[in-house]
Amino acid sequence: MPSPDEVLATPLQFLKGVGPRRAADFSHIGLHTVEDLLYRFPIRYEDRSRLQPIASLKPGESASIAARILSCGLRSTRRPGFKIFEALVADASGPLRITWLNQPFLRDVFTVGQHVVFYGPVEIRGGAGLQIINPQYEILEEEEGETIHTGRVVPVYERAGTVTPKMQRKLVHEALQRVPADLADSVPEEVRARLELPSRRAALVEAHFPPAQASVDELNRFATPAQRRLIFEEAFLFHLGVLAKRQAAAMDQKPAPVLVDDRIRESARRVLPFRLTGGQRQALKEIVDDLQRRYPMNRLLQGDVGAGKTIVALLASLVAMENGLQVAFMAPTEILAEQHFINIARLLRSSRFRIALLTGSTSAAARREQLALIEGGTIHLVVGTHALVEGDVRFHQLGLVVIDEQHRFGVLQRATLRTKGLHPDVLVMTATPIPRTLALTVYGDLDVSVIRDMPPGRLPITTMAKPESRRDEVYAFIRKELEQGRQAYVVYPLVEESDRVDLKAATEMADHLSQEVFPAYRVGLLHGRMKPDGKDRVMKAFVAGELHVLVSTTVIEVGIDVPNASVMIIEHAERFGLSQLHQLRGRVGRGAHQSHCVLLYQSPLSEDARERLKAMTETTDGFEIAERDLLLRGPGDFFGTRQAGMPTFRLIDLVRDRELLDTAGREAAHWFAREAPAPAAIEKLLANWEARFKLIEVG
Ligand code: ADP
Ligand code: MG
Repeated sequence: MPSPDEVLATPLQFLKGVGPRRAADFSHIGLHTVEDLLYRFPIRYEDRSRLQPIASLKPGESASIAARILSCGLRSTRRPGFKIFEALVADASGPLRITWLNQPFLRDVFTVGQHVVFYGPVEIRGGAGLQIINPQYEILEEEEGETIHTGRVVPVYERAGTVTPKMQRKLVHEALQRVPADLADSVPEEVRARLELPSRRAALVEAHFPPAQASVDELNRFATPAQRRLIFEEAFLFHLGVLAKRQAAAMDQKPAPVLVDDRIRESARRVLPFRLTGGQRQALKEIVDDLQRRYPMNRLLQGDVGAGKTIVALLASLVAMENGLQVAFMAPTEILAEQHFINIARLLRSSRFRIALLTGSTSAAARREQLALIEGGTIHLVVGTHALVEGDVRFHQLGLVVIDEQHRFGVLQRATLRTKGLHPDVLVMTATPIPRTLALTVYGDLDVSVIRDMPPGRLPITTMAKPESRRDEVYAFIRKELEQGRQAYVVYPLVEESDRVDLKAATEMADHLSQEVFPAYRVGLLHGRMKPDGKDRVMKAFVAGELHVLVSTTVIEVGIDVPNASVMIIEHAERFGLSQLHQLRGRVGRGAHQSHCVLLYQSPLSEDARERLKAMTETTDGFEIAERDLLLRGPGDFFGTRQAGMPTFRLIDLVRDRELLDTAGREAAHWFAREAPAPAAIEKLLANWEARFKLIEVG
């Protein structure tokens, strides 16, 4: 007799009706076990408890009917290539016409005599009776008249390869039969009792096969007690894992926490070229508090482009160096590393600290020399790219690791760097504003500091959206800026499936601009297919002002600082995501000149695209943009790709379930504090947790 847990762990191919083909289809979408299958919610629920007699249908509402096909076939129309598939169906109360537009393959799906459930909008048919257009359908087999597929509220699943919604319904039903009554509950009894949550087993059954009195509307909002209980469960486990990770990390001990006294405060004041903003001061305080703790810091510093994160990191570095510790300052590209190196060297000029730059282009001899100085402890701060993580870089006493623009680093590189010190403090910086709800989950095991204000005196960037037809005006505008000695960016989208085509577009545009539009100016081109040193060369020429216009795909570095660039044209702005548009816009507005961003778009705009462009013209606040982006796109797409560190939730929708997530967080914290799980228990929790949530590991 398998244990309850074993039942859930049963591989799907052991389920009746799942052969190798279906197992592969399931595995393709990440479903491997019975548990995976049971935690895949229906995408919606359909009320088939009251299938409507055809004679009672009214136009303007959606209806479910069960009817037999009397005749069906493909019909051509006057519009070439446009096909209509029509079926005449009937139930005991009368006939109805059903129409699908441009789905000729239905020819192979339907045959006369089939018994089918249709669900769709009822419309008036050109003054002559009613019809349903493009309905969802499900073909019933004779013997399953009133089983799990009709006569009740039924779950409708998203199709998975060859597995139809109906097959999945059958499989889920079958799987639920096997789940034993004494299935262990993953939410502690006392929490369940207090929040009046149903048991795990009951919740699983009801989320898939709702009881007769369940409200379809509530089901479709995923708000029934059963659904909420399962969402809560996922959130609770997620939070527990985060807490456990934090506790495990807090067991590591730094060799010595840093001390901060008046001498060190004075030393910091001396290098500071300006007054810190309120946000910078607060962030610095949080970081320095961490440095003074016994366990290592694991902190994310968020701040929009230009918010002034670097100086905060540098002041923290100074505190570490004053305590005899070394600092590694890592940037994702050579240009950014050099930029940091130059700035830091300038700021530390009058201090006693020695700094070095270590990148891929450091010569072998220089590198050897620097490595010796780093290992000997003579160099106090090293700025570098991933060259910093190579095996031969050894520190005397690495105390602080600063990682700039973290989303550019692989997990592995960070891990390597971390092992180069004895539990060094880690500060990760990002200019990608993360909405509050996402921050909690994406960076669950990091503490987060946020700089929301900007250094004084910045001129907000003006942003305009212009249709393609106004291109000439836009060129005239750029010319005016160039005449005043400014520089301009022209950005092209790069769509993955067709990057060759887009690259061609960018290349041709660069030629066109340099030969016909701005013959008096030098135009450069930057794209992702160039070798790193080629990219660096173009970028450096632009930084040096030798190029006036830079045409590029979206590869321009985050954080690159060209104060003289005052115009950013984004071509096909309708194709970009909101956060990406904002990131791009952040390349301008970095100097004393009024900066402008022009979003050139191709009409007609989709509703979403219109919203994005509108948001861009309405606000320059990165956090507000991020919140709007999250609402527009949903969390799955927020970063463009899933592997960017988003945990993969099975049931939680970060927007829909905000409140439930908060509740679960509070409950998990209480429970964790009260139960104080043993290290062994934590380890067990984390083992599954990593695989389950695939959260990014930082540091
Ligand atoms: P980011 O947060 O994007 O990394 P940086 O650290 O590069 O921003 O800072 C952007 C610019 O603002 C730099 O030129 C920096 O010297 C300047 N800056 C930062 N903080 C202040 C401040 N408090 N007052 C004035 N200028 C500042
Ligand atoms: Mg920066």
